[in-house]
Amino acid sequence: IIELKGLTKKFDENLVLDHIDAKINRSEVITLIGPSGTGKSTLIRNLNMLDTPTSGSVIVEGQDITKIKDKQLDSVREKMGMVFQSFNLFPHLNVEQNISLAPIKLGKWKESEARKKTESLLEKVGLTEKISAFPKSLSGGQAQRVAIARALAMNPDVMLFDEPTSALDPEMVGEVLKVMQKLAAEGMTMVVVTHEMGFAKNVADRVWFLDEGKIAEDAKPEQFFSHPNNPRAQEFLGKLL
Ligand code: ATP
Ligand code: MG
Repeated sequence: IIELKGLTKKFDENLVLDHIDAKINRSEVITLIGPSGTGKSTLIRNLNMLDTPTSGSVIVEGQDITKIKDKQLDSVREKMGMVFQSFNLFPHLNVEQNISLAPIKLGKWKESEARKKTESLLEKVGLTEKISAFPKSLSGGQAQRVAIARALAMNPDVMLFDEPTSALDPEMVGEVLKVMQKLAAEGMTMVVVTHEMGFAKNVADRVWFLDEGKIAEDAKPEQFFSHPNNPRAQEFLGKLL
C-alpha cells in the first residue's frame, strides 16, 4: 500500500533519513522504534507529506505523492489518519463536533447521519457516554481515544501514530493500546512509533529499528526481541531491561 524509494530527508546538513527503501503492505502493523532523535517522527511525517522529503519517493497505492500537490495531495492525506502524542482536539468543540467536523465539511458524511456515525466510532473506542463532553473534561486516555475516533471518521486506509501514549499517565496507556490493538485485529494498516515494547511484541507484524538514517533492522518481533542482528538494536534493547 505504501512504498518508500530512496526516501531522504536533510535538515540543512543534518541527514536524518538516508535513502530509505521499504514497503508497507495492506493490513500490516509496523512499529518504528529507536533512540531519541533518530528520525522516527520525521519518517512518519514524510509518509503523508506533513514534511517534504529532500529526495526520493513515497508511493501510495501506485501514486508518487511527492509529485502531487494541493487538492490531489489532500485527498491522499485524507486516507492517512494521524494521531500524535498531544491529542490536538479542538478545545471549543465537544466530542461529537470534534469527530464530525472534517467528514461533514469534506462531504464524506451527510449531516443527518453524522450523529449515528459518531456514536458508532465512539462505541469502537469505548466512549459513547462522552459524546457531548468538551475536551477539557476528558482524561488523557479518553482524549487520545477521541483523537483516534476522529482520525477514523475519515475512513483512512492507513493510520499513523507518533508516540500516542507517551504523554499519558501510566494507568491510561492500556486503554489506548487496547483500542489500537483492536484496530490492528480488524485489519487496519498501521505505522506506530512507540516505546511500548509490549505492543511491539504482541501486536506488530514487523519492527523497524531506525539508526543513522536507515532502517537498521526490519524484523518480525519474535526475531527482533530475541536476537536482534544490529549491534545498536542490541544496545537499545539492553537499556530497556
Ligand atoms: P524522539 O524519540 O525524541 O521523538 P525522533 O526519532 O522522532 O526522536 P525526529 O524528531 O524525527 O526524531 O528528529 C530527527 C532529527 O531531525 C533530529 O536531529 C532533529 O533535531 C531533526 N529535526 C526534526 N525536525 C526538524 C526541523 N523541523 N528542523 C530542523 N531539524 C529537525
Ligand atoms: Mg519523535
